[in-house]
Amino acid sequence: MILILEGELQETSAAYQALVHYLEKLEGIEYRVHRVQGAEQSLSEIYLIGNTKSLDLAVMESLPGVKKAIRVSREYRVLGRHLDDQRTTGFDYNGVHFGQDNLNVFAGLCAVDTPEHVEQMMRALQENGQVCTRMGAYKPRTSPYAFQGHGKECLPYVFDLAGKYGIRVIATEILHEAHMDEIREALHRTGSPTGVMLQIGTRNTQNFELLKAVGRQQQFPVLLKRGFGITLEESLNAAEYLASEGNARVVFGLRGMKTNLGDPHRNFVDFAQVPVVRRLTRMPVCIDPSHSVGTRDTGPDGLMDIFQVTAQGVVAGANMILVDFHPNPQAALVDGPQALRLEELAWFLEDVRIAREAYEERRLLAEAQQRGIG
Ligand code: PEP
Ligand code: MN
Repeated sequence: MILILEGELQETSAAYQALVHYLEKLEGIEYRVHRVQGAEQSLSEIYLIGNTKSLDLAVMESLPGVKKAIRVSREYRVLGRHLDDQRTTGFDYNGVHFGQDNLNVFAGLCAVDTPEHVEQMMRALQENGQVCTRMGAYKPRTSPYAFQGHGKECLPYVFDLAGKYGIRVIATEILHEAHMDEIREALHRTGSPTGVMLQIGTRNTQNFELLKAVGRQQQFPVLLKRGFGITLEESLNAAEYLASEGNARVVFGLRGMKTNLGDPHRNFVDFAQVPVVRRLTRMPVCIDPSHSVGTRDTGPDGLMDIFQVTAQGVVAGANMILVDFHPNPQAALVDGPQALRLEELAWFLEDVRIAREAYEERRLLAEAQQRGIG
């Protein structure tokens, strides 16, 4: 069961103290307090764990400081959607809204290679009105002899350039909890010119100790990629690890499944599950068309498969796109064959706009239809 507390309730207030006192006396029930930092106010939720079936919803709602009590109908306690659950989706971070009601594009380098390429990328983003990007510093590679990413060495110039070109959020993968300290240190040294969204890659979706460590910090939001060879339910549980440790600012990323049944694509595109994740949870849903498709192959209509699957995800309600670009794909150290070129950025964004508009129209049509029936 979840107790949603009155917005202004202070932990020092008599009402809060009385509530906690009451909860402590409940037998066989533990409670955990979660703070949710919204744009204007911080809101507390209390999660009751244990034999909550015995609790009466109306009684719990009448307790001091409690605005609403919700019976948890699914296992994703923090991130899930529950019966009669009107809690908002998403969060704000460094001036950017992430929710199930909007769409952010993170075009950028799969792997940072040179300061020149980072600068060319960011200049193109600014020229196209973009404030988010992807910049891989720590790269998980199949071969130990392959380029492993520039790691902490590149972070200062990446952050400086982000400041110069008005980038507000950089998605970057971490492979180890020590990388969070390196990111903090680089932000500190450069005067925090940008925000960072920590990416947990598909190889680490079930690295539970990493999830717990990332979940314990509240500074950075997280993009959790779905595991490439596990069920959706298992990946959603992985997201819940982050939230159960205290960080519910999580975006869930679909990036395709590893199976030859998806050939000739690099992975079997799973964007049909965008609406499933939106229905089961309150997380914004990201799609990664680059790592799903893996090539620049183009159909007879002139549309690259990367554009096609992006549109399919967006038309189904995706909230974030993580997509590889490179000023000179031939020179890219990682994933050059799937990178779009800077000259294609405006085209890509326009294609996304068309798909998003189609989604908005479809949503309005569904609403009208439902009103008609009801
Ligand atoms: C990436 O986004 O750079 C990446 C490695 O993705 P994934 O974890 O989905 O393979
Ligand atoms: Mn890659």
